Amino acid sequence: MASAWNPLASHDLERRDLDHVTHYTCRICQRDFRASRSGVAAWSVDPAGSPLEDRVNQRWLNEPCPGSPQRRDEYDRTRIK
Ligand SMILES: [Zn+2]
Repeated sequence: MASAWNPLASHDLERRDLDHVTHYTCRICQRDFRASRSGVAAWSVDPAGSPLEDRVNQRWLNEPCPGSPQRRDEYDRTRIK
């Protein structure tokens, strides 16, 4: 993975390849991410794959895995762009 992915590397990611993107779900904190198939770009999504608003997206991309599902995330994942 590229260096920009370092915070995501702390998650235990289950990978699902879709048509144009790869969907990742963390087995530990249940956060969802998607990345371009090239792996260059990554963004935070809700379980259905909708991108989350920038504030949540930036936080999830830059935080290491919180170690357990977070109550606050239940609200954050409704903050669809
Ligand atoms: Zn995690």
